Amino acid sequence: MKIRVLGCSGGIAKGVATTSFLIDDDILIDAGTGVGDLSIREMQRIRHIFITHSHLDHIGSIALLIDTLFEHLVGWPITVHAERSTIKTLQEHIFNWKIWPDFTVLPNKSRAVLKLKAMAAGSTRDIEGRRVEMIRVNHSVPGVAYRIESQGRSFAFSGDTTTNGSLWSALNKHDSLDLLFVESAFANKDIEIARLAYHYCPQMLAEDLPKLKHRPKVYISHLKPGEEKLIMKECNKALPDWGLYQLKNGDRFKL
Ligand SMILES: [Zn+2]
Ligand SMILES: [Zn+2]
Repeated sequence: MKIRVLGCSGGIAKGVATTSFLIDDDILIDAGTGVGDLSIREMQRIRHIFITHSHLDHIGSIALLIDTLFEHLVGWPITVHAERSTIKTLQEHIFNWKIWPDFTVLPNKSRAVLKLKAMAAGSTRDIEGRRVEMIRVNHSVPGVAYRIESQGRSFAFSGDTTTNGSLWSALNKHDSLDLLFVESAFANKDIEIARLAYHYCPQMLAEDLPKLKHRPKVYISHLKPGEEKLIMKECNKALPDWGLYQLKNGDRFKL
């Protein structure tokens, strides 16, 4: 399994984009602004998008991607997988003919270019040998993490979340975990904002990460632009045994 980081920041700037990971060449986990770094040919290979939650920094590129690839997708739709409530939010607030056309009925219902497919936390979907498991987390809107396994190797991404027990216990049910991306959006000085916005800060993450029985390589994502160094310093101070890395745009992994 290959993982390419198209975006992993809490914001945008030159060379900095919001959350999106390309798995092999056909699955996206979230569709933040990083999707725009792909060539048209690379975009045409995308068949599935798994969404963690409805916030704009994680869904912003779905609408533009579908529009860009329209002719290519007629009768051969991209499938967006998400929780039922997230699908409903996308239908009501994005694909509503006001913000963007409803691509689930374009050019017509039977040959539509976009398919929205609800999935429940705790369930798994098999995409040609990649097992994608949806896991409940704790964010300000309904949010999930994903664990993806392929040929015995596994990767998990926390999505946006604050302190929770569900992610760690779900990951512990499996025999192994090779790679973990987990968020720490804020520095410790912003712990109150982190609580209100349902994100982690290093101090909160330090209470949760030791619940994990596996010892994967751990990368921190969703760092607030301009505070990356401080957040990483605090993470490594709070979790000295873990050797945590900062996830960066353009990072590539092979499992
Ligand atoms: Zn969010
Ligand atoms: Zn976010």
